[in-house]
Amino acid sequence: EKEAILETLKNAVKSYPDFPIPGVIFRDLFSVLADPQLFPLLKKCLIEEVKAINPPVECVVSLDARGFLLGPIIALELGIPFIPIRKKGKLPGKVRSYDYTIEYGQSTVEIQENSVKPGQKVLVVDDLLATGGTLDAACKLIKQEGGDVVSCLVVMELNDLKGREKISANVISLLQF
Ligand code: AMP
Repeated sequence: EKEAILETLKNAVKSYPDFPIPGVIFRDLFSVLADPQLFPLLKKCLIEEVKAINPPVECVVSLDARGFLLGPIIALELGIPFIPIRKKGKLPGKVRSYDYTIEYGQSTVEIQENSVKPGQKVLVVDDLLATGGTLDAACKLIKQEGGDVVSCLVVMELNDLKGREKISANVISLLQF
């Protein structure tokens, strides 16, 4: 049953060769969200995974932009806080920043100070794990704020890029490509 659902979801992910640059196959989560039969199945699968995490998570952090489609659904269902991480300069008030290297150059992500509480058990959510640079930066930022990253959850994982090896926390993926 579960395997069949995951297979259906995987088949519904539309793939775009050579987008946004030559050599990349873009895996489009929006093709799943556009299907009113499949979006609730995706939600169900995500919630099931999160409820099985031990120790239970107390806070959901996700990443701008496609992580923002998933994190709040989980936070609402569990009745726990949703906290954003965004690219530099987008979040108001005092923020903590983390610089990391991407394929061509540098990027900076930020979280609002005192958003994640010291010792809080955190779940990090994003749409896709590729090289792991983005999730790793998110985990480092949360740790600097005193949060305890219990697990990372992504809908899609690109196995060949071995991104999970870069991440110190446990990584859960629903669909593997
Ligand atoms: P990375 O930091 O290399 O693990 O890249 C992960 C981030 O880039 C995620 O936030 C994804 O939304 C995006 N991304 C990277 N590769 C792809 C891809 N092939 N298809 C869709 N999104 C991707």
